Amino acid sequence: MSALTKIELNLQNNWLKDLQESNTSGNELLSTLGLKDTADDYEDAFRAKVPKEFIQQIELRNPDDPLLLQILPTAQEHQLHPDESSDPVGDLDAEQGDGIIHKYTGRVLLIATGACAIHCRYCFRKDFPYNKLLAARNNWSAAIKYIQQHPKIHEVILSGGDPLTLKTDKLKQLTRQLEQISHVKTLRIHSRIPTVLPNRINEDLCQWLAQTKLITVIVIHCNHANEISENVQTALAKLNETGVQLLNQSVLLRGVNNNAEALIDLSMTLHANKVLPYYLHQLDSARGTHHFTVSDKDAVLIIKKLRSNLPGYLVPQLVREISGEANKTPISSNIISS
Ligand SMILES: *Cc1c(COP(=O)(O)O)cnc(C)c1O
Ligand code: SF4
Repeated sequence: MSALTKIELNLQNNWLKDLQESNTSGNELLSTLGLKDTADDYEDAFRAKVPKEFIQQIELRNPDDPLLLQILPTAQEHQLHPDESSDPVGDLDAEQGDGIIHKYTGRVLLIATGACAIHCRYCFRKDFPYNKLLAARNNWSAAIKYIQQHPKIHEVILSGGDPLTLKTDKLKQLTRQLEQISHVKTLRIHSRIPTVLPNRINEDLCQWLAQTKLITVIVIHCNHANEISENVQTALAKLNETGVQLLNQSVLLRGVNNNAEALIDLSMTLHANKVLPYYLHQLDSARGTHHFTVSDKDAVLIIKKLRSNLPGYLVPQLVREISGEANKTPISSNIISS
């Protein structure tokens, strides 16, 4: 490791402090924003958690702010809907032990960690039994063994939780081993961290990304252009400098981004930061998320507007994850042809 001074090391690790400080309560947050305490706080593992970077991007005194709605615990979460499930995408059926989820040909997904920098109220893995199923355990040994034994796997996808909450050393441990497996070509990281905890994109992390021999793709999870603060832009520029391919996936969320204007703005803002839109996901029906649902018909109408206003490369693919299917399912515009 390069000789870092103590001050440099402290700067590198600021993100850990930001991460610790992101635990909050919904009502504390509302009072900071000058709003009435209408949150429904409960003390479970999925309590309110929001880094200050994200809070700073929320408009004061606006109860309908698209960022606030993503993170504020409300009574609507207790309204359970018959379609909802604790495992909406069939992760557990495809689980091979130790956080290895192998559903798709050629690609394997590793549940790297259970920790996230933010708690998104619509999260599809909020009930995931993380404590039993973590791939980073024992220096990733079970995952490495599994990948070695499956020569068709060419892409390893890190998910979670948020894999970038792991320390860089832990991530280096993984790529050092993956680089020894000749059939593995690509490392993909799915993370909300570049837009919610931009301090995490530090020198150490960027050095690791620049140096790995694997083709590296980072899919950031950004739902609204307001998430892209100046610090986030800096973080994205640093990631771009490492030579990784940057993509974005969003979840279509009622009240947050279910209008063409917001999504056009998002695509253009991402493009200005050299990030291409990849997927726009229909919501997975996790427990207590029904209030975020957008109908397929409305989703298709929104995508049509995007297509008529943007170049094709800025239109994300509208898809849904269906339990047991061998790939994501595109939502066809045929459903409204008439
Ligand atoms: C979405 C997903 C993938 C990756 O799918 P792509 O279409 O390649 O982005 C892999 N494994 C699981 C379990 C997934 O949900
Ligand atoms: S960052 Fe992803 S995994 Fe974590 S709470 Fe949000 S949606 Fe869920």
